[in-house]
Amino acid sequence: MEVIKSFTIDHTCLKPGIYVSRIDKGFTTFDLRIIEPNKEPAIAPSAIHSLEHLMATWFRNSEVKDDVVYVGPMGCLTGMYVIMTGSYSVEDMRRLTIECLQWILGQTEVPATTPETCGNYLLHDLPMCKWECARYLDRLRHNFHSEYTTLQVVLDNGQIFADA
Ligand SMILES: [Zn+2]
Repeated sequence: MEVIKSFTIDHTCLKPGIYVSRIDKGFTTFDLRIIEPNKEPAIAPSAIHSLEHLMATWFRNSEVKDDVVYVGPMGCLTGMYVIMTGSYSVEDMRRLTIECLQWILGQTEVPATTPETCGNYLLHDLPMCKWECARYLDRLRHNFHSEYTTLQVVLDNGQIFADA
């Protein structure tokens, strides 16, 4: 089995920011890193679930809606993935995300939270979601990071795997 690219990023050096996780088959996967992995508490499942509903709603109604492929949470609960077609830079995604977060901070309810529209409709926390968004917004504006530090990974067959 090959080591997949995202596992070659040194998560001990990863700061909150926006990174290009990968570009393939015409799709760009953006890593919207909200908290510092393994140093700050991960986002609560209920808060990141609300963030998923809100962020997906915003992106799919925005000026770039036709290029949005996917918006969803990371399994490690430290950020979100946004997958886009077309050509978007980290700066484009930073501007869009700032606009999105500002919109979320003005919301008073989470969209699509009924048993018919959500697979776990009670698992939501809008106040905590907004708290995470406010902190991330501040970091995107004043303490922005966008360069990965990569690890060298040695595969089972002795080959060095690095994605740089
Ligand atoms: Zn849901």
